[in-house]
Amino acid sequence: MDFAFTADEQAFAAGVKRFLAEHPPERFAVDGTDAGYGSGSHSHAFLHALAEQGWLSMTWPKAHGGQERPMFFKLVLLEELALAGAPFGPLAGCWQTADAIIEYGSERLRREVLPAIARGEATFWQGYSEPGAGSDLLALKTEARRDGDDYVIRGHKIWSSHAGISRYGLVFARTSREGRRSRGFSMFVVPNGTAGMDIRPIRSLTGDVYHYEVFLDDVRVPADLRLGPEGEGFVALLNGLDSDRFWGRFYKAPAIERVLRQLVEYANTTTVRGTPLGRDAVVRRRLAGAAVDVAALRALFYRTACLLRDGAPITYETAIAKVLADETGQKVARLGMDLLGLWGPLRAGSPWAKLDGQIAQLYQTSLGHTIAGGTAEVLRTTVAVRGLGLPAEAKAG
Ligand SMILES: Cc1cc2nc3c(=O)[nH]c(=O)nc-3n(C[C@H](O)[C@H](O)[C@H](O)COP(=O)(O)OP(=O)(O)OC[C@H]3O[C@@H](n4cnc5c(N)ncnc54)[C@H](O)[C@@H]3O)c2cc1C
Repeated sequence: MDFAFTADEQAFAAGVKRFLAEHPPERFAVDGTDAGYGSGSHSHAFLHALAEQGWLSMTWPKAHGGQERPMFFKLVLLEELALAGAPFGPLAGCWQTADAIIEYGSERLRREVLPAIARGEATFWQGYSEPGAGSDLLALKTEARRDGDDYVIRGHKIWSSHAGISRYGLVFARTSREGRRSRGFSMFVVPNGTAGMDIRPIRSLTGDVYHYEVFLDDVRVPADLRLGPEGEGFVALLNGLDSDRFWGRFYKAPAIERVLRQLVEYANTTTVRGTPLGRDAVVRRRLAGAAVDVAALRALFYRTACLLRDGAPITYETAIAKVLADETGQKVARLGMDLLGLWGPLRAGSPWAKLDGQIAQLYQTSLGHTIAGGTAEVLRTTVAVRGLGLPAEAKAG
């Protein structure tokens, strides 16, 4: 395995750095705060600026308006954006949805939604979880009933991140109750604002709103907004979740590295009772330990990226990478709180907040990381069964 970037990838990284210097990320208006993944805030203006560079569609086939650049260009871009703390929130979701549309979308989705993604105008929320269906997604109750050329969707989604500020929902619903339990699910691309859709904010423990619950009261959707074959949505979703775990977490290593650099700078410039924090043995050990975790995380994601590029299965690797990414994020947030001491809990806006109050934000939002997109407990079962070959059923001990 060759870990070196190619000359083209290095030139691209230099181009992204130039772009960021010419378009300082902090100047872009923000529509929604980072839900804590490290993807930066949601900024439609910033997404639009990325689209103007052709970066949203750069890996697509030319037949769909892309440039057929290798997948690693996307990794280079994500890494540079995360290191710069740019507000690139919706980017990975746009890429994933575009890939799914290119693979099995209808003519209509390719004609209407793909170009909107390329222009930076389309963003998506994921409507999977329901009040009674999270880890056990097959328990979901939302139904899509065929009615002529349409489907009529009825149900209740919850925890849908950024639903209120996105343009489309990816709504997962039951289209049939016949056959095996995992059959009979389909995915729909539902425009926000469709009659019968009611999106209500859920305030999080930070006080911000990034989750929503969505009530779907006989929402009528044309059949050609179904994404993939009818009834086969669950298989597509499982593949999608692997991809989701990869693209939705890849940028955590650079995002955490950015925070870590700031903590190191803080330790080197802050003196407590006459001694610089950077000389404290415990502080040094914990900062170095975090650096080790981040380096391992980055290597693990690049290894998974190579498998993904080569079309190999990534279920086991993404399970490990997601657990490590989320737990490293939580560990660094705790380290930051300990290092900042009494200043740690102060939020942005407080005149006494250190490091722009971002550690308090990270500490609170990172709690949800080990739940979102598959909980750490469920993913450890995936590691045990798929990776280590342990029996699928555990006995409580
Ligand atoms: C920050 C955040 C963002 C999210 N964004 C979205 C989104 O955009 N769209 C969306 O659809 N959903 C989203 N979710 C919801 C998320 O997918 C679910 O919360 C998650 O799948 C867990 O489901 P649950 O909350 O119903 O918990 P449950 O599934 O009820 O789990 C409760 C507890 O039981 C444990 N558990 C459950 N089953 C098992 C098992 N088989 N073995 C061992 N332990 C088990 C879990 O690990 C957990 O600790 C988000 C959640 C968070 C926190």
